[in-house]
This record gives sequence, C-alpha cells and structure tokens, in this order.
Amino acid sequence: MKTLTQTVFEIFEKIEKITSPESVEVLAATKTRPLEAVLEVVENTPIKIAGENRVQEFLSKYDERVTWDFIGQLQTNKVKYIIDKVWLIHSVERDKNMKVINKEAYKIGKIQDILIQINAGEEEAKAGIYCNEAKEFAEIVKTYKNIKLKGLMAVVPLDANQKELTKLFEKTKKVYDDIKSDNNDIKYLSMGMSGDYELAIKCGANLVRLGRAIFGERK
Ligand SMILES: *Cc1c(COP(=O)(O)O)cnc(C)c1O
Repeated sequence: MKTLTQTVFEIFEKIEKITSPESVEVLAATKTRPLEAVLEVVENTPIKIAGENRVQEFLSKYDERVTWDFIGQLQTNKVKYIIDKVWLIHSVERDKNMKVINKEAYKIGKIQDILIQINAGEEEAKAGIYCNEAKEFAEIVKTYKNIKLKGLMAVVPLDANQKELTKLFEKTKKVYDDIKSDNNDIKYLSMGMSGDYELAIKCGANLVRLGRAIFGERK
C-alpha cells in the first residue's frame, strides 16, 4: 500500500512536469476524511491547507495545526461559527453572504480573504457567478471593508470533456487576468480537482483542490 505521503509526492511530480511546483498551491479537500489523514498530509508533505465543505464537519475536524479553507456553500447563519477559524473562503457568490461575512469579520477585527465562486459552465444546478458578471461582482466586494478579494474559484460541469473543460478553464483565466489587472490583492485562481487538475494548471490555475487524488475514492 502506498502511503498518503507517497501519493502526494507523486502528485507533485506530475505538477513539476507542467510548471514549477512552488507556483501552485495544493489544497487537500478533506470532506469525509478523518483528521488523522489530514494531519499525515500536512505534517509530511508541502500541502499545508485543507478545505472543508460543511460547517458542522469543519468544526468537528478543526485543529490548529492545519490551515483551513472553506470551499462549500456557506449558509449565512453559520458564518459566525467559522469566521475566526477560516483562512480563505473560496465559495462566495452572493451579496447576502458577503454582508454577513463582513459583519462577522468586523466583530472580531478581521479582514476576511475570499474568492468569488465562478460557475464557469453556467449550470443551473450549481451556485456561482457567471464569467460575464464577475467583474461587476468584484466591484461590489470592494465596498466591504472587512473583506478582501484574493481571486476566483471555478466550478465546472462534472461531465465535461477535455475540450469543453479547456474552454471553460481558459474563459475563467481570462476573467481572472482582467480582474487582476487593476487589483494588486488578486493572487489565486482556484481551479481544478482530482480529475482535471493537470489541465487546469496548464490553463493557468495556481491553486488546485484535491480530494480523491490524495485520499482515494470516497466510501
Ligand atoms: C470535494 C471537492 C473537491 C475535491 O474533489 P475531488 O474530485 O475529490 O478531488 C474540490 N472542490 C470542492 C468544492 C469540493 O467539494
């Protein structure tokens, strides 16, 4: 059996074939995975960030030895439970959420870093801002004093083929470059999961979110 550490180093070898591994941040997507597995990864590999999808699971797993991001849909009434524990929130896509994040961050004297979630495939079932609305949404983010926009997170259709994915990733990268061109805080393009991270990196992602590639299939 390969250890988690070996698996992660193989992932970095793949990334190295595409670009300098230092230029890509790998986040471990840790839903359903035990804290022990998360700790094994962050203590033995270059991966330092874990991302959780649900507030309840986030809180039950939270450990100060790990840097935690939030990558799932965030209900407004639950922001207060994670605001002091979360590093980057990837999944902001509604003004209503920002209002609450801003309010709760203000209460604890924090500037909360966020990404705008981009629904690149414009799927009705998925949350997220469409590419053509992203610039306008980024302007709204600026009006919140306790929120800082750090980039974009793309979600793409699960059933898209390589060609479609390339198109969607490239489209998102363009929006990212556009927003970055007049905002020095913009730093992260979170794009690519276990099945498509190599392609996403080729298209300009500098933050990938990997669950199954690290921990194996979910049971
Ligand atoms: C689960 C999840 C991932 C990781 O997915 P894998 O296919 O297991 O790599 C990435 N991003 C989000 C938002 C997720 O919910």
